[in-house]
Amino acid sequence: MRTEVAIIGGGPSGLLLSQLLNKAGVATVILERSSREHVLSRIRAGVLEWGTVQMLHEAGVSDRMEAEGDPHDGCYFTDDDLMVHVNFHELTGKRVMVYGQTEVTTDLYEAQDAMGTTIVHNVEDVVIQDPTTNAPYVEYTVNGERRRLDCAYVAGCDGFHGVSRKTIPEDKRKEFERVYPFGWLGVLSRTKPSHHELVYANSSNGFALASMRSQTLSRYYVQVPLTDKVDEWSDERFWTKLQSCLPADVAGSMETGPSIEKSIAPLRSFVNEPLRWGRLFLVGDSAHIVPPTGAKGLNLAASDVFYLYNALVDALKKGDETGIDGYSERALTRIWKAMRFSWQMTTMLHQFEGEDSFAGQMRKATLKHLSQSETARRDLAENYIGLPY
Ligand SMILES: Cc1cc2nc3c(=O)[nH]c(=O)nc-3n(C[C@H](O)[C@H](O)[C@H](O)COP(=O)(O)OP(=O)(O)OC[C@H]3O[C@@H](n4cnc5c(N)ncnc54)[C@H](O)[C@@H]3O)c2cc1C
Repeated sequence: MRTEVAIIGGGPSGLLLSQLLNKAGVATVILERSSREHVLSRIRAGVLEWGTVQMLHEAGVSDRMEAEGDPHDGCYFTDDDLMVHVNFHELTGKRVMVYGQTEVTTDLYEAQDAMGTTIVHNVEDVVIQDPTTNAPYVEYTVNGERRRLDCAYVAGCDGFHGVSRKTIPEDKRKEFERVYPFGWLGVLSRTKPSHHELVYANSSNGFALASMRSQTLSRYYVQVPLTDKVDEWSDERFWTKLQSCLPADVAGSMETGPSIEKSIAPLRSFVNEPLRWGRLFLVGDSAHIVPPTGAKGLNLAASDVFYLYNALVDALKKGDETGIDGYSERALTRIWKAMRFSWQMTTMLHQFEGEDSFAGQMRKATLKHLSQSETARRDLAENYIGLPY
């Protein structure tokens, strides 16, 4: 097979990049390790930045999001004493959209089917060959048969555990990492959300987040030690812990019910530099990971796609390589700012094991400052709705 852009990974990055490139007349083939059902069953992000929403419009996949998504004007931050509202819309004129990653991915798969894009599922042993030449190609196995895909460029959209980043020799790249000493236990339940906007709680009982995917689907999280296992957490234990971390009126109005998904996600900040090696480009989680506290993972993937899609169209349609030469630096500038915000939100909202009493006072003072300073709320709102591309 031959194509213009070979895309490794059929998650949100790969699908969105492919959809935008196809709309601009660039041919793509997507190679995905898992089945479509598996990709669509992964419960992950749910908050879309303003820029991500615009990108989904541009990609022609926004109809269902506009009909079923839930635009949010703001969110809440609480500790034991305070409940602070940050009104994004008043402070920035923009909103975020609550619409699950599984829904975004479903819409993109449907749009790609309509475009007739080749998406090869269940591929194994993907190897990116000759990325520093003008004739890169990708080898892979499907149904026991070894195949070859020739292309002009390779987009590595294969997540944190994919092959793309590791294709770049270690002496040609640098990794920056912070692993946090706790994880998030997340529960999805078919219950009415306890509050109309997201509530981030930093209580003396630990961190919790009350969020949602729709008017009938709630997503809740509590902070847990990394040594905890999901099966140690019965639904009853989870609801009790969650309610103990939230303000009384939010906890009191909470509808509880059986979990339909329960998982523990470790929290990590990670950046690989650079994002380019010859004709191979890293996009989304293959290049960086953020802790979910700032709701930035999926949104950073979308901003990488924005830069790379425009750069590849310029290169392939106009012979102008300025965009691809500048891709890594442009994307990394925004990535590091989102890293900073996610790290700051994580530090502001979590208890760290063994911390001194000073740390707790700092968190309380940060929230107090947020409640009293419009400047502090505006800064948070600007970052939360997403910095400009
Ligand atoms: C448990 C969890 C919860 C999360 N919660 C949030 C949240 O609340 N908010 C938020 O903003 N973000 C969240 N994220 C992050 C967000 O989901 C990711 O940032 C987003 O999925 C990145 O998209 P991606 O396409 O770059 O990578 P991925 O979604 O990881 O997609 C990569 C794709 O590549 C495929 N692949 C991997 N290796 C290969 C290979 N060798 N060959 C071919 N294909 C391959 C994978 O099967 C996958 O389909 C969460 C992530 C996880 C894991």
